[in-house]
Amino acid sequence: MKKSFLSLILIFFVASLSADEGMWMLHLLKQQKYPEMKKMGLKLKDYDIYNPNGASIKDAVVQFGGGCTGEVISSQGLVLTNHHCGYGQIQNHSTLENNYLDNGFWAMTKAEELPNPGLTVTFIDKIEDVTVYVKECLQRDKEQDKDGIFFLSPTYLKSIAIARVGAEFLKNNAGTDVEIKPFFDGNQYFMFTKKIYSDVRLVGAPPSSIGKFGADTDNWEWPRHTGDFTLFRIYSDKNGNPAAYSPDNVPLKPKRWLTISTKGVAENDFVMMIGFPGTTHKYYTSWEVAERRDIDNAVRINMRRVRQEAMLNEMLADPQVKIQYASKYSGSTNAYKNAIGTNWAIDLRNFEQVKLEQQNCVLDWALKNNKPQYTQALDKICEIVENRADLRYRNWMLNEGIIRGVEFAGVPVGAANMLITALESNDEDKIEKSTAQLLADYNRFANKDYNREVDKKVGKTMLKEYTKLMSREKQPKYFEVIYSQFNGDVDKFVDYIFEKSIFGSEENLQRFVSGNKNAEVLRTDPMFQFARSVTDEMLSLRTRLSAFDNPFAVARSTYLDGILVMDGANAHFPDANLTMRLTYGQLKGYKPRDAVHYSHQTTLDGVMEKEDPNNWEFVVSDKLKTLYDTKNFGRYALSDGRMPVCFTATTHTTGGNSGSPVMNGKGELIGINFDRNWEGVGGDIQYLPDYQRSIIVDIRYVLFVIDKFAGATHLIDEMEIK
Ligand code: ASP
Repeated sequence: MKKSFLSLILIFFVASLSADEGMWMLHLLKQQKYPEMKKMGLKLKDYDIYNPNGASIKDAVVQFGGGCTGEVISSQGLVLTNHHCGYGQIQNHSTLENNYLDNGFWAMTKAEELPNPGLTVTFIDKIEDVTVYVKECLQRDKEQDKDGIFFLSPTYLKSIAIARVGAEFLKNNAGTDVEIKPFFDGNQYFMFTKKIYSDVRLVGAPPSSIGKFGADTDNWEWPRHTGDFTLFRIYSDKNGNPAAYSPDNVPLKPKRWLTISTKGVAENDFVMMIGFPGTTHKYYTSWEVAERRDIDNAVRINMRRVRQEAMLNEMLADPQVKIQYASKYSGSTNAYKNAIGTNWAIDLRNFEQVKLEQQNCVLDWALKNNKPQYTQALDKICEIVENRADLRYRNWMLNEGIIRGVEFAGVPVGAANMLITALESNDEDKIEKSTAQLLADYNRFANKDYNREVDKKVGKTMLKEYTKLMSREKQPKYFEVIYSQFNGDVDKFVDYIFEKSIFGSEENLQRFVSGNKNAEVLRTDPMFQFARSVTDEMLSLRTRLSAFDNPFAVARSTYLDGILVMDGANAHFPDANLTMRLTYGQLKGYKPRDAVHYSHQTTLDGVMEKEDPNNWEFVVSDKLKTLYDTKNFGRYALSDGRMPVCFTATTHTTGGNSGSPVMNGKGELIGINFDRNWEGVGGDIQYLPDYQRSIIVDIRYVLFVIDKFAGATHLIDEMEIK
């Protein structure tokens, strides 16, 4: 009797993986999910998707920058990604006179394509299971690993990755890199051989009124009407190898590019996506769920709301500020809304209970099979979560409230410290060098997107909120001045700092460096002291928190081992960790609330419905209106004559999947993933079959904008469109 009850629970745990759930490793697809994908409508062979011995679809998918995905769509290295993934680059090239954010950008010839120093795209050439190798290395290096941290250490894993291929190999293959990553918290290890291209040029971007239509109001929302795409091109040296930017570089001839289908797909049709999802927490325990909701997300939601309101006021009052703070503002709201959606799902779907049931399965099984290590591991996780709560709260408050919220907390403390030491040593050479360093670091801080008045105002707001919520003895030491010298008046304190500090303005800094520099003046500088005190507090919190890290990591690794041993390794997918994954599902709408149904496809009609010339988020350009009025949709319209814009699918995605190619059963490109609905973001912790939807821009809208809106037909001619 007991036995069958237990096996019922076990079945529940494995079966609780819903059909569309999962971010699967490509090299394991064949034994894990390929048969099910075939049943659902995949028309390809497994080696068409991933082929260790030849070109396959995976070779057309790239990691774009550090945190997005892109896909190669022509034989000349043309890459599609999201507008929000290329946003920083578009912003960088924008000025008030040539505002590409507002007006869009289209290179009509290759010579007009714009280089982007620092931007890379990464191809994954090879994926190998190196679990045995890593475990052997760990065993060999046990003596050096005093704290037992090597098993998750990127530095250690990097060193053994290089040792495995040999430094010579990397030297002889420009742009090639190797990385070993831990999976299931260090129970499996895979090695990725990558090719990284660093000459990536901007080719085309729609105006923000298309690429960011709906902006923050619509972010994480469905129905959606955003043409969230940008085009780049990869350049290589004449031999096709990665090379730093050079006018002599040529468009890359890729191994593989995606063909594009304008035929569309219908509700319930099979779709799949390959990309680089960043972070998920599928294997959270119930205690970590509560910690995430009550500390991490609660602090983030409150502090960002306060910062964003303050920032937006300034942005709306001044077009220059609007450009300067565009990236900072969107970066902030993105994680803010995600945190709101996550907490909503945690409560609505009682994730604490769901994870508790998962833990209990492991506990029951461990008890039955006499494996006390798993019980001990869970006890340890529970104990650590409880013990780190206060420090964790302080850390989140400091990060969200001050480090992120108050820009002047980031003045160059390191360089200032160097200059103080140099001045004290009276070493002219050192003084000269440190002064130059200080100026360079200050210019990086006060760059073209920094506005002193905005920093002052937002900083005041954030400091008020932080000091209201954090007890006085737990604030950074220098904050005591606010009480002792300014009677708790934050406004006066900040005004004073800006007036008196060397870093309060360009003029103040110039006066200091060109005058008789004095170590004492720098050491007692109020903004320097403020920033240093924040850094000290950050380091102190980090050090104290890090004492929990290793025992926590070991306990989690043991717990995950329990899950894998109990269910078998093939039953589960590892949490996202910025490695290449495949997810599949169906095109589907959803029911957000009782009696409300959202269909899976939006059209240009919805753009016109949302149009509001008085709200910057919903402005529609005259050109788009004319195309709409004249139904000038070319070959991209739906069969009923309407222009498709976005659609939703049940695929399991997260941050990092932005820009991922969405393909039909034949592997043809039908859309670009760019977001999720906020009701689905809790899927980072527990997939929600009825709520979780990826939001995808329909490739036909992308082509229509390139072709009819921008007139960049030379780009259309480059693609293989069916
Ligand atoms: N918007 C996300 C990204 O930027 C995608 C997602 O979270 O679904 O990667």
